[in-house]
Amino acid sequence: MLVLNADCGPLHRVSLRHAIRMLFRQVAVVHEAEPDDRIGVYPVPTVVRLVSYVVTRWRRGRGPGWSRAGVLVRDGRKCAYCGAAASTIDHVLPRSRGGRNEWLNTVAACGRCNNRKGDRTPAEARMPLRTTPFAPIWSASFA
Ligand SMILES: [Zn+2]
Repeated sequence: MLVLNADCGPLHRVSLRHAIRMLFRQVAVVHEAEPDDRIGVYPVPTVVRLVSYVVTRWRRGRGPGWSRAGVLVRDGRKCAYCGAAASTIDHVLPRSRGGRNEWLNTVAACGRCNNRKGDRTPAEARMPLRTTPFAPIWSASFA
């Protein structure tokens, strides 16, 4: 799913689910859609466009750098495993096994799930993620 800036310049890619969240929050509009596919009454977007122009302050197309606080904000301070209030960060692939401090490898987690998961992957711990971690961009995720 391609996201365009308000001036139609390409910004980055997001999941369909993330794109639909942006549409519902009215930070983006459908730019191109599949003519025959629908989700309920809505056409399935293939390209969405931001409503207001995002100044890409650093490198074009890059979002904010990774931070623990940023992961909590991105995930709405909800545990990615059980949905309870989260105050810790879990590494999907544990750090002890080479997992890095990156947007796509970290999720908000409550202390209980974090302890329970330990040094295992979600599959090994049989703790499926409720949401897929994504790399945010400034406007869409922190607006
Ligand atoms: Zn939890």
